[in-house]
Amino acid sequence: MTRNEGLIFERSSPGKTGAELGPLDVPPVEPEEVLGKEFCRPDVEGFPEVSELDVIRHFTRLSTWNYSIDVGIYPLGSCTMKYNPRINEVVARLEGLVSDHPYAPEGLVQGCLRVLAETQRALLEITGMDAISLQPAAGAQGELTGLLMMRAWLEEKGNPRRYVLIPDSAHGTNPASVTISGYAVRNLKSNARGCVDLAELQHAMTEEVAGLMLTNPNTLGIFEEQIREICEIVHRKGGLVYMDGANMNALVGVARPGDFGVDVMHLNLHKTFSTPHGGGGPGSGPVAVKKILEPYLPSPTVEEAADGSVRFNSERPKSIGRVRAFYGNFGMAVRALAYILAYGAEGLRQATEDAVLNANYVKNRLQDSYELPYDAPSMHECVFSDRRQAAHGVRTVDIAKRLIDYGFHPYTTSFPLIVPGAMMIEPTESADRAELDAFIDALKAIAREAEEDPDCVLTAPHTTRVARLDEVAAARKPVLRWKPGSAEEPV
Ligand SMILES: *Cc1c(COP(=O)(O)O)cnc(C)c1O
Repeated sequence: MTRNEGLIFERSSPGKTGAELGPLDVPPVEPEEVLGKEFCRPDVEGFPEVSELDVIRHFTRLSTWNYSIDVGIYPLGSCTMKYNPRINEVVARLEGLVSDHPYAPEGLVQGCLRVLAETQRALLEITGMDAISLQPAAGAQGELTGLLMMRAWLEEKGNPRRYVLIPDSAHGTNPASVTISGYAVRNLKSNARGCVDLAELQHAMTEEVAGLMLTNPNTLGIFEEQIREICEIVHRKGGLVYMDGANMNALVGVARPGDFGVDVMHLNLHKTFSTPHGGGGPGSGPVAVKKILEPYLPSPTVEEAADGSVRFNSERPKSIGRVRAFYGNFGMAVRALAYILAYGAEGLRQATEDAVLNANYVKNRLQDSYELPYDAPSMHECVFSDRRQAAHGVRTVDIAKRLIDYGFHPYTTSFPLIVPGAMMIEPTESADRAELDAFIDALKAIAREAEEDPDCVLTAPHTTRVARLDEVAAARKPVLRWKPGSAEEPV
């Protein structure tokens, strides 16, 4: 347990204040007289009465109970938790970029529009696609946007079709997006290498199927080497290929989905392009398409006019419509562009190569200790299973909790679903050799503990303020506000 137990949270005491105002030199007025009665709530009470130092200490202490990429490696697989360079934040806070109003006339916001146009241009070059919208606010929203465009294209051809194929290794947002866009999911079983089984795809790809939603590299961190054949099979039956590009950190500067035959894809700027995430937003999930889908992009699009100015184009009769207020999360585009320009083509390629090298290093060094269900070369992440440890009653979640005691953020547990007891590790390019070694040593030590002292792992973490939370209750019945007098201390 922690020190200062009784003092941890509640610092308020009546009459304490952080500021003293001088005596009034104007006549006092009641708030109701100024604001009107309807804007004054009689029931507002219970504000903490604290000094300035209390406030500083409160928030600083809370921040030390947290873990972030600025503290250490954050190997949460599929999430690409990499370092967010401070220069991005400096640029995103530039006066001219933060103070423009979304309703300002185009002529007055050419600078911001230019940022959007340059971001689009860079992302198109990186992906090898033809046209793009920066509107979607997250990867999942990009998926929905892309699927609605696929539907619109098929509808125009006369039949929207009924199903979308999704490999069994897919991220949970894929089936959710398919369902919301009015399609039914058909599951594709992966082959022994953890990739799309071409025979299975041939069989499943009928004229009732709108297309395939494929993550590449997939959630096992394996590149779908037969991506061209996969696209051909889908196209031959009149379907489209959607690529979930959340794992682009393995490809940027090295390979372009547009060259594989993909028709539509999204990017996660808040993963690959280093904008901060993990706190629930804001994010950005641009959708890039091939020419055939361009007419359906969300409206308005941002386009460069012949005179060099940048304009919103809302005259798009086939557009699926707007998917986000204004033009998406502008600040995310600024950060992504800052990142891209700071690194340049060479730097982006280097980042990708380092991310892939790091994942392979972790994979190779941990193979003695943990079971590797699919042994193909890793891209940006590697996936182990807890099979050996499960023999001692220790599961992936226990190992993850024990990692916290060793000072590391856990990896992703129990995903992808095709690996029972999955341990999904994405080190990213941000970890150096020394940090990777320390992380690997911790996991090796935990593997030994699982054999020699499983109880120590099963009861972890031992060093945190709270041990194991009821994650279901935390999601279903979140306590978002602590009130004075509450029986329980917030955790
Ligand atoms: C993160 C992720 C998504 C969803 O992205 P959000 O921005 O969280 O909506 C989709 N697919 C994969 C493979 C991902 O890793």
